[in-house]
Amino acid sequence: DLHPVARALISVSDKTGLLDLGRALEARGIEILSTGGSARALREAGIAVRDVAEVTEFPEMMDGRVKTLHPRIHGGLLALRDDDAHLAAMAEHGIPAIDLLVVNLYPFEATVAQGGDYATCIENIDIGGPAMIRAAAKNHGFVTVVTDVADYPALLAELDAQEGATTLAFRQSLAQIAYARTGAYDAAVSTWMAGALEQAAPRRRVIAGEIAQTLRYGENPHQAAAFYRDGSNRPGVATAVQHQGKDLSYNNINDTDAAFELVSEFRPEDGPACAIIKHANPCGVARGATLAEAYARAFDCDRTSAFGGIVALNQVLDADTARAITEIFTEVVIAPGADDAAREIFAAKKNLRLLTTSGLADTAAPGLAFRQVSGGMLVQDRDNGVITRADLKVVTQRQPSEAELEDLLFAWTVAKHVKSNAIVYVKDKATVGVGAGQMSRLDSALIAAKKAERMAEGLGLPSPLTQGSAVASDAFFPFADGLMEAAAAGATSVIQPGGSMRDAEVIAAADAAGLAMVFTGMRHFRH
Ligand code: 5GP
Repeated sequence: DLHPVARALISVSDKTGLLDLGRALEARGIEILSTGGSARALREAGIAVRDVAEVTEFPEMMDGRVKTLHPRIHGGLLALRDDDAHLAAMAEHGIPAIDLLVVNLYPFEATVAQGGDYATCIENIDIGGPAMIRAAAKNHGFVTVVTDVADYPALLAELDAQEGATTLAFRQSLAQIAYARTGAYDAAVSTWMAGALEQAAPRRRVIAGEIAQTLRYGENPHQAAAFYRDGSNRPGVATAVQHQGKDLSYNNINDTDAAFELVSEFRPEDGPACAIIKHANPCGVARGATLAEAYARAFDCDRTSAFGGIVALNQVLDADTARAITEIFTEVVIAPGADDAAREIFAAKKNLRLLTTSGLADTAAPGLAFRQVSGGMLVQDRDNGVITRADLKVVTQRQPSEAELEDLLFAWTVAKHVKSNAIVYVKDKATVGVGAGQMSRLDSALIAAKKAERMAEGLGLPSPLTQGSAVASDAFFPFADGLMEAAAAGATSVIQPGGSMRDAEVIAAADAAGLAMVFTGMRHFRH
């Protein structure tokens, strides 16, 4: 299953490593065919090449749209070398056998990432490249196909080990990578077009990404795992720069994403905010006059759980905040930036991972969210719903005060990022109790209140901070009991979607307890 490499076709947009590769192939006596720009670069370096145009007897035309799309090229890639009829066809039509194809594609993804306009993106869709890659990969019984600059050294090592040939196993492995590349490429085109056309997101979409990193393991040590980028280049954990600390783990990435998405709800121009996350749920979220104060107030919501957590900040990390964070063990800190003094303080904590992003996430931006189920996948629009004051409907006799309104909206924003059933108590723009992921809304209300009580004891406060708080529920209260539990914990105002069969009953209970309650008309389940 060895196949010798006598002739190569090289057509690359990314010319990294091209000259070294050309020289190495030439030194091994391999003839090189090449397209316009690639041929020029090789020739200028003194490497002998034959133009593809000479083989096809057609010039490259239409701004490069048609270069290699010709039977003399595709025949040379697709012909079965052990089939007499195929060999006869090659001889009859003057088709040279191509044993090695080296192609990397027009930089479509990079063009999109750089904000290229519609026409520029369209022009950067490679046609001949994927056609050749797919042909060579199909014919991997004889043809070696390299689509990634990173694989050049392995190719040369193989040619040396096999004395100028490649093994079937090697060609198969490269063919598999080649189809991953063309698949991801067309997926990127389709995804970009759906965005450009503002199409209803989850319909007829292909889901693909490019591998960014192999992870040590998945959620548990016996699970293999990897991290993929979707090519959208959005600010977030997938595109953040890591400055220090060990590699991110699967769980780190998941939690850091939850932290960053949540803190991104708080625009930096509205003041500092901090979110601390454990197991993808917030254990403290707060605003503050300074970033350090926002961190301290978030930390005070649940100091026990914050240990080993992920901290996300909506402004550039400063020295005061960095100092406060290093007082306990924290896994990851993510922020839009970090100043030099903060970096210096963190440098002493070798295990602490620091990530900076190019800005905050646009929480209102459209996008897709995926979930795997047995034998399939669920795809939906990401939850980019935003509620403003104008959307709120007061349903009780008592109107919420200005301060209550602000806390209600804060609680609502946090509840969107808490696993259902979610109950969130807020006081003065800081969470004071978070109930997450319970199978009953009543239990979430109870747990959040209980945690607030424990925290008050720990802080030596006379009463839990839920006294006089605003409470948010991610979905409607199906019965009055959950609401009554919140009132018992001291909540005086309530925000919830409304829409229950028993809304009247729940509103009557709120009125009887003197609560002010608003409906949002929007639900934020998060399972
Ligand atoms: P070069 O810089 O060598 O002129 O062009 C290299 C690029 O052209 C590669 O990215 C390759 O995939 C692409 N390419 C090769 N043949 C064709 C073709 O027939 N049509 C188009 N659109 N692109 C091609």
